[in-house]
Amino acid sequence: MSNLYYNPWTGALSKLLVEKTLEAGCMHDASAVFVCNSGSEANEAGIKFARKVGKTIDPNGGKYEFVSFNGAFHGRTMGSLSATPNPKYQAPFSPMVPGFKYGTYNDIAGINELVNEKTCGVIVEPIQGEGGVNVASDEFLIALGKRCREVGAVLQYDEIQCGLSRTGELWAHGRLPPEAHPDILTTAKALGNGFPIGATIVNNHVAEKIKIGDHGTTFGGNPLACRLAHYIVSRLSEPAFQKDVVAKGEVFLQGFKKLQESFPGLITEVRGRGLILGLQLTEDPAPIIAAARERGLLVITAGTNTLRFVPSLTISDEEIQEGLGILSEAIRATRA
Ligand code: PLP
Repeated sequence: MSNLYYNPWTGALSKLLVEKTLEAGCMHDASAVFVCNSGSEANEAGIKFARKVGKTIDPNGGKYEFVSFNGAFHGRTMGSLSATPNPKYQAPFSPMVPGFKYGTYNDIAGINELVNEKTCGVIVEPIQGEGGVNVASDEFLIALGKRCREVGAVLQYDEIQCGLSRTGELWAHGRLPPEAHPDILTTAKALGNGFPIGATIVNNHVAEKIKIGDHGTTFGGNPLACRLAHYIVSRLSEPAFQKDVVAKGEVFLQGFKKLQESFPGLITEVRGRGLILGLQLTEDPAPIIAAARERGLLVITAGTNTLRFVPSLTISDEEIQEGLGILSEAIRATRA
């Protein structure tokens, strides 16, 4: 059944996402949800919504620029790819969509020039996953929020990787004051726990500019995906579950500290929060990854020479210790 027809689960999921977001002290004016099938599609909707808001403010079409940041990953559809300034992903498909501009993550001084009257929207990950587990400073996001309000640009947080309790809070931006809350918040990945679904949460400032028929998708909001996600969101938003995520993050951090002591000169920094963590290495991690895989541990890179850890949120302490043990052996093997 297409989403042309009413089904109760699209509404129930949307309502739950909004309620849990408000309850958690996140995006204080969250009010409506577009449900789709993936993260790229959720961001694509957000980009289109920002363009529509820009067009409403300036009907002559001068407010169309869209800003993202170096190191970002927002997806592989043409709009979300245009917001992903990584030559590896963009070059084979260039030229990109017109009007996309890129800034430096965490560069507060550059914001005023980057985001201006021509900007309709800004997209940012509160914690960059693919970019190397880089955490945005609170000051950067507050300054970005302030500048967006000044020039009438829509602020979009991509929490597709860092959201839904991965940091131990429902959303990674939960710690921020309301002035740094987004107008658009995107989620996917954990939302379906393996089943394809994505969602774009918006406030009224955005929702009131979007008319029925402006945007759509046949299977977005289908009853099976929404029923699943409804259960998953209710589980992921449980405070006890979130406390566990923080505790497991601590187990990782203690293990990383020992690794750092065992291999000084290799690990220069530990980044991230909860269960989105990165180890910054001084060399290409490919041999370590291969040695870990031979020993039964799958681990992935990100950014430049970063090992990225985004395990299942239900990982046990024993599994963490086992994984850390294998990683240590793998590193040792590559030193030999
Ligand atoms: N945004 C972020 C931060 C992501 O990590 C990803 C996927 O890796 C996406 C967007 C794209 O999501 P999808 O692969 O579901 O299209």
